[in-house]
Amino acid sequence: MKLDILAFSAHPDDVELSCGGTIVKLVKAGYKVGAADLTEAELSTRGNVQLRRKETEAASKLLNLSMRDNLKIPDGQIENNQTNRLKVINCIRKYQPDIILAPYHEDRHPDHVHASHLVSESNFYSGLDKINGSYEPHRAKGIIYYYQHLVDKPNFVVDITAEFDKKMEAIKAFTSQFYDPKSNEPETYISNKRFLESLKIRAQYFGYQIGVQYGEPFFVKSAIKIDNIYQIFS
Ligand SMILES: [Zn+2]
Repeated sequence: MKLDILAFSAHPDDVELSCGGTIVKLVKAGYKVGAADLTEAELSTRGNVQLRRKETEAASKLLNLSMRDNLKIPDGQIENNQTNRLKVINCIRKYQPDIILAPYHEDRHPDHVHASHLVSESNFYSGLDKINGSYEPHRAKGIIYYYQHLVDKPNFVVDITAEFDKKMEAIKAFTSQFYDPKSNEPETYISNKRFLESLKIRAQYFGYQIGVQYGEPFFVKSAIKIDNIYQIFS
């Protein structure tokens, strides 16, 4: 299956939290979007792998993803080594995305930082003929980085006003991870009620910067081709 866009993340739910609205918008526009989680988040304080798989399936349906894969790299060990690069390379070659979405290279969670470097390097090596894998060489044309805990000077913000409710629905599909007054599991940074509220405030903050209700910020390392500068702010 060839995808237009492939979103990589360290853990199931990262994509929903960081670029879920943009993905819903892309799918609505007719693009084929898939997601590949590098780990099964087995180190998560709340929930377990079985439950997390079901939650991921439900969230993927809400985002209307064409596919959701898991590369089963051990959680907490997303090392940028040859074994892990080959897993990511095979995934890129299998789905041949034109664009890759990946975590930004600085964050509170070391897995997100490692995932950023692993995916970026793998996309480069994936285009090299002499690296053998299970599929033909393929390199995505560009990588767009999404922000997680830390937001550091975004290059652009996507208007997700029409997609915000669906994004929150997909996030809440991860019932074990986020605020649930009935849960007896230990409270975590993201299970606090204020965490879900902060997502809305953040989307409003970035939305306001581009004159809309809700937005998601992104970063690119490469230059962006623009034909008409008038349209940037129109
Ligand atoms: Zn994560």
